Amino acid sequence: MNEMERIDCEEAVQRLAEYLDQELDPDGSTELEQHLERCRSCFSRAEFERQLKTSIRENLGSADVPAPFEKRVRLLLKGLVEGE
Ligand SMILES: [Zn+2]
Repeated sequence: MNEMERIDCEEAVQRLAEYLDQELDPDGSTELEQHLERCRSCFSRAEFERQLKTSIRENLGSADVPAPFEKRVRLLLKGLVEGE
């Protein structure tokens, strides 16, 4: 009904990292979640990244993931997904 609420895949991917870090504002999260409900490819990507984050955390115990490492993983993922 309201096209303003819809975000496209590009926007969804951009918000995904913040969403998984719980840094996204509530409105942004809701829009992203609505997109993930409709979009299988973004949903798969979100699940993949979520699991990756979880496994990184588990491998490092309860310590916070060092930002530079996580950033490298994210860049690597980005390259894989976008086929760079
Ligand atoms: Zn999408």
